[in-house]
Amino acid sequence: MIAKKAIGLPLKSLRFAIKSGDTLIQTAGTQALRFKTWFDDSKANGVAKSENANSASVINSDNKSDVSMNETIDIRELEFKKAPINWIPATLLVATPIAAAVIAPWYLATHHVSAPVWGVFGTFMVWTGISITAGYHRLLSHRAYKAHPLVKNFLLLGSTLAVQGSAFDWVSGHRSHHRHVDHRLDDPYSAQRGFFFSHIGWMLRNYPSGKFDYKNIPDLTKDRVLQIQHKYYGLWVLAANVGLVAAVGWLVGDVWGTLVLAGLVRLVLTHHFTFFINSLCHITGTRPYTDTNSARDNFILAIFTWGEGYHNYHHFFQYDYRNGVKWWQYDPTKWLIAGLSKVGLTSELRTIDNTTIKHAEVQMQFKQAQQQIDTVKEAGLDIPHIMQNFQDRIKFELDAFTQTVEEWQALKAKTIELKKTEFADRLHEVDDNLKSEYAKIEQKIHEHNDNLKIAFRSIGYNNKAA
Ligand SMILES: [Zn+2]
Ligand SMILES: [Zn+2]
Repeated sequence: MIAKKAIGLPLKSLRFAIKSGDTLIQTAGTQALRFKTWFDDSKANGVAKSENANSASVINSDNKSDVSMNETIDIRELEFKKAPINWIPATLLVATPIAAAVIAPWYLATHHVSAPVWGVFGTFMVWTGISITAGYHRLLSHRAYKAHPLVKNFLLLGSTLAVQGSAFDWVSGHRSHHRHVDHRLDDPYSAQRGFFFSHIGWMLRNYPSGKFDYKNIPDLTKDRVLQIQHKYYGLWVLAANVGLVAAVGWLVGDVWGTLVLAGLVRLVLTHHFTFFINSLCHITGTRPYTDTNSARDNFILAIFTWGEGYHNYHHFFQYDYRNGVKWWQYDPTKWLIAGLSKVGLTSELRTIDNTTIKHAEVQMQFKQAQQQIDTVKEAGLDIPHIMQNFQDRIKFELDAFTQTVEEWQALKAKTIELKKTEFADRLHEVDDNLKSEYAKIEQKIHEHNDNLKIAFRSIGYNNKAA
């Protein structure tokens, strides 16, 4: 608080100075910001920070490069602080929920809404939501499958109805998100900046991380249909959200009711359901595949996000057309893509093989086991007998697992070699042999998984990821 007051004045004049290009004062602002960062950090870290400060009194060349790196970070942080308001999206994102909260209850209380209008509302909800997940996300951002032009354009129209930016903007931002996930400066909707920023805040201002140069979408920029969507995006949005919705409303005999429900309410709900993927799916849930980023698996969120709630899996295996990879996981988007492939409307569905997926899960469980052991050890007490047994079991299992992984790697190398040297007429025979060897490895990895489950149960720890 004091720090905020202390830097309040320099920052005010700084804003003015930066506008007129005064780099001298910009440096002063950077210093002020660095002071604030230092102050916040020292509040959080207390004694530990002061120890670091003492040891940092000897300055060497490494420290100097650290300093210049920090300066760059500080300047970029400053750019975040002075980011101008993104007027069009900000107005839309603030006005539409308010309008929906006021108009919809009034309309429902004073008008009779027929079943067909509710039907149109439901249909548009599904169409818009799934268009984002199956279209903008899995088809265009990740190239997880190929779609017939009919499907592609249907999803593109649905994504335009969603009013979440053109395909160029959406995909470019999403690829940056995957590439720089959790980075405060480079992830456009970094969860490290908190719930509000990752949910909606990142669109309200022109943050440096939100400026896309389309270098990461060369596959899209040459697509003629997407070029047209991007160029006339505003017109397309109006035509879809007003023209199309009103036309359907006219067909079912209630233009205004359809505009309120299938237009306005549907738009607001779809917005926030999608935004949950960037916010809550990085905050709450389990991490069965990796803990190297904040993405979580969350069944409840999968319901609202058409299957995208299995976000931990998605961040680890982003090219898989499935997000809920287990057959029983609720992922209507994967069912749609798989269903359309049966009638030839989608093809080349990309998947990760079961052994690789299970391997990631087992590895994560070893990590979690180690964390359990460390927690007990850090308590400073004698390690209980039951925990000692657990530790021994985990160590034994880890040795066995390492051996299985080595066998698996050797088998992969052998496969490459055999494919190079075997005659074409023998390939089929070789494939059958390899298949059974791969099946054995998969079986072994499943056994490691079961053994870990039993070990976790022995210490009364319900490892949901196991
Ligand atoms: Zn994410
Ligand atoms: Zn993604």
